[in-house]
Amino acid sequence: MLSFTGNPLDRASAERADPDWVSAQRARPDARFLPIWQTKPLLVGERAGFLEAFRLHPEPDAACVFLGLREGQPLFAVAMADSEVPPLAGLGEFHDMRAAAFLLPDADTAIAGQAKALIDWHRRHRFCAQCGAETATRDGGYRRLCPACGAEHYPRTDPVVIMLPLLGEECLVGRNARFPLGLYSAFAGFIEPGETMEEAVARELKEEVSLAISAVRYHASQPWPFPSSLMLGCYADAAAKDFCIDAREIEDARWMTKEEARDRLAGKIEDAIKMPTAIAIARRLIADWAAKP
Ligand SMILES: [Zn+2]
Repeated sequence: MLSFTGNPLDRASAERADPDWVSAQRARPDARFLPIWQTKPLLVGERAGFLEAFRLHPEPDAACVFLGLREGQPLFAVAMADSEVPPLAGLGEFHDMRAAAFLLPDADTAIAGQAKALIDWHRRHRFCAQCGAETATRDGGYRRLCPACGAEHYPRTDPVVIMLPLLGEECLVGRNARFPLGLYSAFAGFIEPGETMEEAVARELKEEVSLAISAVRYHASQPWPFPSSLMLGCYADAAAKDFCIDAREIEDARWMTKEEARDRLAGKIEDAIKMPTAIAIARRLIADWAAKP
């Protein structure tokens, strides 16, 4: 399964609007809490580190968000104080979310990603964007309400298009200057206001590689909590093979045949070129296309 997808929780959207219901869930003896410290989730072994309430000593005003019900059991995420030394010593280890995604089972990765994105949003949105007053948490953490001006603020999800241009039996992969050494991947960019997904794909490919396209096909999506993106994976039919990189963003691009892509994904070619990692939707786009006869 694609990393960060397949979240099994019942988010209880109707019930969580009632603060008494949320408080009752928090007080249940079977309620469990996933600590997030500096955007890192706690892991206990290779599972998400959900702990009992009495093991946590969060600050009184620490963000605590309702994640959902797992087979009826209430799960929360809680922000730990921004200490230099990791808290909860001896109970587990805090891992960078990307590293955690390689260790955790799929469902735990999806839940931890949801927790990380929400806690991170609360950390960065304590004050009203309209009037500057401190806002208060509502709906178990899915809304912040400004007591001064009444504005409501909702957790952000930022749509990003990520696309693999295709022509015949070849795909175009590129190297962003910020990529790890040797990595070639799909192209990506944020959707801008007033733009459809298809228009964003066409614009980004025109800007980054001057590639003209004739059609866009949606393939799959992936929540990507760095900090709060939704990746919209697409294929784009190139009108011609010619391209020209914009050196401000793209270091290099190259057409790759299906056979080469299959061999590289299988680790059969040993050179400096690397494919996207297993948790990236870019790898899924390349692999699903290359697997088709
Ligand atoms: Zn306000």
